Amino acid sequence: MIRIFLLFLFTTTLFSAEVHRDRWLNGETYLVFLEKLSLPIRPLYYNLDKDDQRLTEEMRSGVHYQILRDTNSSIEQLLLPLNDELQIHIYKRQGEYKFEAIPIVSSTKTEAFSAKIVSSPNYTIMKYTGSKKLAQIFTASFRNSLNFKNDIRKGDSIVMIYKQKYRLGEVFSMPILQVAMIEMRHKKHYIYLNDDSRYYDEKGHEVEGFLLARPVRGARISSYFTKRRYHPVLHKWKAHLGIDYAARRGTPIVAAGSGRVIYAARMGSYGNLVKIRHADGYETRYAHMKSFRRGIRRGKYVKKGQTIGYVGTTGRSTGPHLHFELRKRGRAINPLRVVQVTTKKLKGKEKKAFLVLQKNYNESINLHLNNQTQFKKLPTFTPKCYIHSLTCPTDETAKPNN
Ligand SMILES: [Zn+2]
Repeated sequence: MIRIFLLFLFTTTLFSAEVHRDRWLNGETYLVFLEKLSLPIRPLYYNLDKDDQRLTEEMRSGVHYQILRDTNSSIEQLLLPLNDELQIHIYKRQGEYKFEAIPIVSSTKTEAFSAKIVSSPNYTIMKYTGSKKLAQIFTASFRNSLNFKNDIRKGDSIVMIYKQKYRLGEVFSMPILQVAMIEMRHKKHYIYLNDDSRYYDEKGHEVEGFLLARPVRGARISSYFTKRRYHPVLHKWKAHLGIDYAARRGTPIVAAGSGRVIYAARMGSYGNLVKIRHADGYETRYAHMKSFRRGIRRGKYVKKGQTIGYVGTTGRSTGPHLHFELRKRGRAINPLRVVQVTTKKLKGKEKKAFLVLQKNYNESINLHLNNQTQFKKLPTFTPKCYIHSLTCPTDETAKPNN
């Protein structure tokens, strides 16, 4: 982990300019960052439209960013990753600094491992893989259905198949679980990611989570979560870090989960906004409200399903809808990936498709179980090329050295 604290210095042959990699500091704001690097604030912030300005608020502490300097050590380019798909690109053209949001190039691999249980699943996965993230997603997936305390036996097995993103040869962003299997007293339990992006158990029943699927009853989703989307009219890359539920003005909005209200007031383009803090670092946001329900204010504890306000169109909004966000430790995540509650049972055609998917997954699981597939550790990464849009034609040129 020492690597994290090192600043990588190296020279690209093509431009004889230096690319540095550094970390976004805790509590650092975009404006302070610009000032620190003596970059002009007007073209890189004040002249941007509201959406781009809001994007700049998405920088999170610990995120690695890259700076390319020319031979006079003046900044040529900056890449600031906002999430695992979109990044801010600041660059100099004819002596002037420009701002744009561009996609991040990454590749995704499907990976798998099987492990013999030595202690708790969490401990076992950590021991075999050294990955906190893998341990976390495994235990979170089974949290509501299995009791690991009583039924874990040494020698039983765990298998995980998941998708992992790589950027510039390094593991990047959260793995996405495809299927997980745990034996408990020799009985196998499964969780599958279905084609509808929801998780189901072996019977085709949806796995229950801690948040409600819909904070507005019967509402239609009018805009999905996306970490990057190309706006065809504005010809720009944007992000929509929440889900929009279209509903009539005044329709009640309920708390998606139990927690404490930490904000209930106007906030810029969000309009009337409620933020609720939940367990495990989760936070939900409800924007554009017409009004708050009486008594909903900062510090108030609310229960899952309790009305907190009413659908409206305050702030930057084109019509009545709820803009709903889910964040984990500040980072926006897709609510549909986590919010799995209206326990759905698959039927008919959907069930049939699920059974096919399940059969294929089970075959893979058995294969990994029989082969005792080992978790593969990545070789140490040596940076070759960071600013891919400039010096690397694709992400693939930046493979780890081995
Ligand atoms: Zn929205």
